[in-house]
Amino acid sequence: MLSDLKIRILYIEDNPDDQLILKRSLKEKLSINYDLVIVDTATKGLAKIQKEDFDLILMDYRLPDMTGIDFVRQLKKTGNKAPIILLTGKGNENIAVEAMKLGVRDYIIKEEVKSQRLIDSITDILLESSLPETINLETAKALVTLFNKNPIVRIDSISTLTSNPKTEIPTEELVATLKTLTELDIVNAEPSRSVITCPDCESLTSTLYIECPECESTKMTKEEALEHFDCGNIDFRTKFSKGEGSLVCPKCGKKLKVIGVDYRKIENWYRCSNNHFFGQPNFSFACSKCTAKFNLETANLEMLHNYSLTKTGRQNLQLGLKTTGLTEKSQDKQSSQKM
Ligand SMILES: [Zn+2]
Ligand SMILES: [Zn+2]
Ligand SMILES: [Zn+2]
Repeated sequence: MLSDLKIRILYIEDNPDDQLILKRSLKEKLSINYDLVIVDTATKGLAKIQKEDFDLILMDYRLPDMTGIDFVRQLKKTGNKAPIILLTGKGNENIAVEAMKLGVRDYIIKEEVKSQRLIDSITDILLESSLPETINLETAKALVTLFNKNPIVRIDSISTLTSNPKTEIPTEELVATLKTLTELDIVNAEPSRSVITCPDCESLTSTLYIECPECESTKMTKEEALEHFDCGNIDFRTKFSKGEGSLVCPKCGKKLKVIGVDYRKIENWYRCSNNHFFGQPNFSFACSKCTAKFNLETANLEMLHNYSLTKTGRQNLQLGLKTTGLTEKSQDKQSSQKM
C-alpha cells in the first residue's frame, strides 16, 4: 500500500542544465515515489496545471515569458492551491519577501538545489499539506518520528518523552496535538491510566510532598511504633523504656506482656521535625510548571492514553512517515560523511 503512493511534482525551468541538476538531486535524495513533469515556460506550466493535479510546484523565478511572482499571481486567480517552491539564481531579499506574501511556501537559491535544504523543504511541505491546518508542523514532525519508531506511543512516563533527544517539544503540547489528531480520527487513543494534573495550569508534572497533618512540616522520620491495648497509647518503640528485660508503657507505666495479646507492633508511624506523631502524613503536590500547591482533593484527574495511528492516519501521514524516516537517514549519512 505504502509503495503505491506517488506525489506529482511540476517543475518549470527553461535552463536544461538546471533541469538536470534538480532531476538528479531528487533522484538521489527524495526516496518517496514521485512523478516529475518538466515544462520550460510559465505559460506551459499554467496550461499543465489546468489539466492535471500536482502536489507541488517547483519553479525558476526568471522564466522567458514571465517572472515567478507573475506566475504565482496568475495561478492564484485560477484558485489552484498547490504549494510552490521558488528557485532563483541569486538570493534577493525583495523577491523572497514578495513571494512569501503571495503564499509561496519556500524560496531557495539554486546553489541549494543539490543540498539537503531542498529535500527538507519538500518533505516539510508535503507533510504539512497532509495534516489538518490546526496542527503545528514541528509537533507533527516529532510525533511522526515517534510513530515511525514505535507503533504505539505511550504518554505514561513524562521523562521518556522529554528525554527523547529528537523531541524538545513539551509533553503537554504533544498530548494536546495527539488529542486533536484523535478527534480527527488520525490517531486512536486507548485509555491507559489516570494521573494527577495541576488544577491551575493542567501540567502533568508535579512533585509529591508529604506533610505533617498538624504543622505542615515536610521533614519527618518513619519509625516503628507500639500500641498498648490496656491504655490505648501509641508511641514509637524507642519511647517505651526498658525495665527488667521487658518494655514499659510511657503513658500508664505498665509492663508490656505478650505481643498480640496486650500490645501490638505498628509499622510506619511518622514523627515530624516539630515532634508531632502521626500514622499517615498528608500528601500534597507542587506543580513543576506554575509552582501551584495542591492536594489530592483539589487536583484534577486526567486519563492517559496509548496512541496508535488509525488506518486513516496511516494513509494521511504516510508521506510524513516516509519522509521523516528519510530525512533522518539522510542526515545521519551527511554527518557520518563529515567525520
Ligand atoms: Zn508537625
Ligand atoms: Zn499503657
Ligand atoms: Zn500548574
